[in-house]
Amino acid sequence: MSLQGSSLEGRVAVVTGAARGIGAAVATVLAARGAAVAVWDLNAEGAEKTAAAIQETGGTAIAVAGDAAEASAVAAAAARTRDELGPVSILVNNAGITAYQPFTGITEDVWDRMIGVNLKGPFLVTRELVPGMLDAGWGRIVNISSSSAQTGAPAMAHYAASKGGVIGLTRALAVEYADRGITVNHVPPGFIDTPLVREGPVDVDAVAATMPMKRAGRPEDIAYAVAYLASEEAGYVTGQTFSVNGGRYLV
Ligand code: NAD
Repeated sequence: MSLQGSSLEGRVAVVTGAARGIGAAVATVLAARGAAVAVWDLNAEGAEKTAAAIQETGGTAIAVAGDAAEASAVAAAAARTRDELGPVSILVNNAGITAYQPFTGITEDVWDRMIGVNLKGPFLVTRELVPGMLDAGWGRIVNISSSSAQTGAPAMAHYAASKGGVIGLTRALAVEYADRGITVNHVPPGFIDTPLVREGPVDVDAVAATMPMKRAGRPEDIAYAVAYLASEEAGYVTGQTFSVNGGRYLV
């Protein structure tokens, strides 16, 4: 039995989409627990900002700019991360996009982009990083899905479908790697106050008032759940849904 708390000392973590929002909070919390963190994002400046903030508090982080939904960029980002930080044993597939469109208005291009970033992205990044975890006999993969895939969401069929795919991917990999030391779980955030939500058509304060806790979630609410799933102590937890939604949806 470990009574030392959930240190991630000695681990290398990749967090995709960590320039801002939930990903930035996840990177910050994993680094605070001792992991060396690679901050992957399309937004180079934002990634640098997250990495610099971690370094300022004594943590270890590098910023890696690139598209987490494009195979050659993913391979390059993984190579840089391994070179600079070492073998990766924690992966948080967080990068994602959203959009609102009544179903019959969803064009094929928009559908493909949504599936490309939200579902093919985690496939590509995981496929790139899982061999190192298999070699090490230890790995933690946490996918950020969405409560929209649990409850349904109007004008978000493409988004909900992409996140439903992430849930299927999580469960399939959990079973495939269950006896190889690798756990795979997903966290569906509820309504979390991030730039993504602020940029959408939603009145954040009005929606927050309808929540059981009368507030939106904070990025760190998700980060603490991810940190647990990434820990040594969560080694017997795999294939699970760890909902963090302030009681909005109860499974
Ligand atoms: P955000 O837009 O604030 O941050 C997402 C980050 O991902 C951005 O920095 C963006 O540059 C990056 N990104 C997007 N596409 C990328 C790509 N192809 N390659 C690399 N980086 C890319 O969003 P957020 O609210 O923090 O959401 C993070 C995740 O949580 C997403 O997967 C989102 O679907 C999910 N989620 C969020 C909420 C919420 O309420 N905020 C709810 C459910 C699910």
